[in-house]
Amino acid sequence: MRLAPGSTIGIIGGGQLGRMLAIAAAQLGYHCHIYDPHEAPCADLVAASFTRGSFDDADAIARFAAPCDVVTYEFENLPTAPLDALGDKLRPATHSLKVTQDRAAEKRFLDAAGVRIAPWAEVDDEASLSAAIDTLGLPLLLKTRRFGYDGKGQAWVRALDDAIAAWDAVGRRPAVAEKGMHFADEFSVIVGRTSDGATRVWPVSRNIHEGGILRRSEIPPGSTIEAQIAEAVEVTAGLADRLGHVGVMTVEFFACADGPVVNEIAPRVHNSGHWTIEGSMTSQFEQHIRAICGLPLRDTRLVGRTVSMDNLIGDDVDQWDALIAEPGAHVHLYNKGQARPGRKMGHVTRVA
Ligand code: AMP
Repeated sequence: MRLAPGSTIGIIGGGQLGRMLAIAAAQLGYHCHIYDPHEAPCADLVAASFTRGSFDDADAIARFAAPCDVVTYEFENLPTAPLDALGDKLRPATHSLKVTQDRAAEKRFLDAAGVRIAPWAEVDDEASLSAAIDTLGLPLLLKTRRFGYDGKGQAWVRALDDAIAAWDAVGRRPAVAEKGMHFADEFSVIVGRTSDGATRVWPVSRNIHEGGILRRSEIPPGSTIEAQIAEAVEVTAGLADRLGHVGVMTVEFFACADGPVVNEIAPRVHNSGHWTIEGSMTSQFEQHIRAICGLPLRDTRLVGRTVSMDNLIGDDVDQWDALIAEPGAHVHLYNKGQARPGRKMGHVTRVA
């Protein structure tokens, strides 16, 4: 069923992704109601209403959701029990969260789907870490099973002597060990999927990371990635189907010598898709709103020949004065207040 203009969309999480979803929803005539534990999350500043509450407060989430016509989320590290109670009103459903918020569950899902991933092992203590080093070899990357993002909760083990320091660095919390992969490039495939299984993917960008944080996305992505796009798109659409995902989701890949290797799934719009706001016929944010509201998906073609998106991280945002005067720069500032190191404060897209 198509949700009529004037309906209310609840968004759990009030960061920049929620903010850009709310802007896209407003364009289509919807009201957004943000739910977030912080005092003045940046999505609240562009939405119709805001409820402050904790992500594990089932009663508060039920009260927030009651007047909403549909509820969605902008990040995956959410307790799922309060969301299970929302039933069909929640899009995407909690299954997408349960699979992707725990790296071990995600890898089991990816293994069952038969897609190529880095060889991995579960690590719960020093003994299982030492077993993982024996089976996977070095170097390997230790990642906490939960609550990791932007390279946080990760530590490399490059030599046997690093093992205990790495285990300490991830807080001795349940983790996965992944074989260190050799790859030429990183890229992501972003797909929108409706409840009846229609899908659209965007052109693929090359993603450049620094210290585990996305620094830049660019299109065209170059010949190494281009040779792997067809397979990666098929993998991504297949994973969205297996999850029964409704909305936008993203699969991050390493372009390895023997083909695309899945790094991880984000069950949501993604930083590497911010360029779609100006660079594509349809932004990832509008497509997500369309999918969850039962509207038809729209064309995802590029509107130019080349596109780049640069994140403004920490005090990069101090360049806003020069950027705002640059004729070809689409400047997005997230209104987050203090520019702490590593904090995503905005981005700039250039389309040529
Ligand atoms: P993630 O948080 O899993 O997306 O990891 C952040 C970044 O760390 C990735 O974008 C890669 O640049 C790097 N990385 C993650 N996993 C591996 C791996 N198994 N081998 C080599 N580099 C990795």
